Amino acid sequence: MGSSSHLQRPSGPNRTVSASSFAEAFSIARRNLEDEISHELPVTSSELPSPALSSSDAPSTPALSASNLTTPASLVTPLTEAQTPSLVDSGYDDNIADNFAFAFDIDGVLVRGGRPIPEAIEAMKVLNGENEYGVRVPYIFLTNGGGKTEEERCEDLSKQLELTVSPGQFICGHTPMRELADKYTGSVLVVGGEGEKCRSVAEQYGFKDVITPGDIIKANAATAPFRKLTDLEHTNSRDLLERHGVEKLSDIVIEAIFVFADSRDWASDLQIILDIAMSKGGRLETRSETFEEGPPIYFSHSDVVWSAAHEHVRLGMGALRRIVETVFTDVTGGKKLETHAFGKPQVSTFEFATRLLQQWRTTQHGLVAARRPLDTVYFVGDTPESDIRGTNAMDAKSKHTSWYSVLVKTGVYEDGTEPAYKPRVLVETVLDAVNHGIEREMRRRRAKQSQRDAKNQGGLMQKLANITVQDMS
Ligand SMILES: [Mg+2]
Repeated sequence: MGSSSHLQRPSGPNRTVSASSFAEAFSIARRNLEDEISHELPVTSSELPSPALSSSDAPSTPALSASNLTTPASLVTPLTEAQTPSLVDSGYDDNIADNFAFAFDIDGVLVRGGRPIPEAIEAMKVLNGENEYGVRVPYIFLTNGGGKTEEERCEDLSKQLELTVSPGQFICGHTPMRELADKYTGSVLVVGGEGEKCRSVAEQYGFKDVITPGDIIKANAATAPFRKLTDLEHTNSRDLLERHGVEKLSDIVIEAIFVFADSRDWASDLQIILDIAMSKGGRLETRSETFEEGPPIYFSHSDVVWSAAHEHVRLGMGALRRIVETVFTDVTGGKKLETHAFGKPQVSTFEFATRLLQQWRTTQHGLVAARRPLDTVYFVGDTPESDIRGTNAMDAKSKHTSWYSVLVKTGVYEDGTEPAYKPRVLVETVLDAVNHGIEREMRRRRAKQSQRDAKNQGGLMQKLANITVQDMS
């Protein structure tokens, strides 16, 4: 299916970019967005960030919390990197694709087991103008992965793909959790990731008191009988009683649980999540009589498997989520636990991505949506259940932009099997995906042009006919 790598090289003049003006351009885009959102999303302050994010897993609507309306800045990633000059008022480059864009999943599409998929580097070059049309195409990244700050993830990806990836074009699984920092201002439990990384990401997002499973085990080693903290973990874990100025753990209340990244110790994390889910209103080391008082639990995504270095897919956060829900029912004598998940395939995540993409097109490429509407977004993914399902659901919902799903064979999807959710097109690699999208757009452009030519020619013939008539009279 893929049209191989016949698109040719060089030409693409890449814009060089500088810092402050990006922030400037960004804040203009953000203000516009703020106006747009406040007209579009009337929600009450009592709403959860996303009823859409229910345990049903069904891709659904946005439902941003009230805090979004007042802090749209948090809709996108931090903007600390040096970036583009202000292009908002200076028009745009003719070589930029002004009506289509790409969005990419990362694991299994561009990277696998920490290494780039070979065709990914070429695919990025093609997008950046090294194709026979000399066209450069805007793109963003939308991964369910996480565990580091967006800046760190972008640095990794930049090295892997041999180009500069900016936080302004990047969304990871826990990026939307930033919006909940205003909602949960007390203590929260943050689970997953390496060492203290996720605690520090959560603190950067604005969470005021971030507790980890390590802190709880340090305070009471009996919490997890089979987990012994390493010396480093013991040093890094905080002294909860001292920090909170209390005498017993039950004086500390967890307002919400956030699973930011994959757990590094499923048994102890599962124990601690369940303990809090069964507690009296989030109070550590207590038990509710009804098992209905636990705080909300958020997962940054719900992928059961993902594509890593191993030849077969590996278990992901979605598996832990299933276990938490199932075991909760077992240990409470039949009670149901409803957890929430961000990430793909939630439509709210794709809507979030649409806003980021619009901002990126404006700030990086000078394309203002009102004048240069985005007709098509090509989403390239390897997981039918999250990438393709979400893209198709977004396509069905989106009024103005078509979301076109492309499934690659380099990750979770196994060639020869029937994908659970059907893509618009199935290709071998991300390079084929990029070539397919560009070719399709160029064909459409040519078709439109010949329609226009035919129309113009028709008009001309009509004029000639009129002239003849006039001459005759
Ligand atoms: Mg993937």
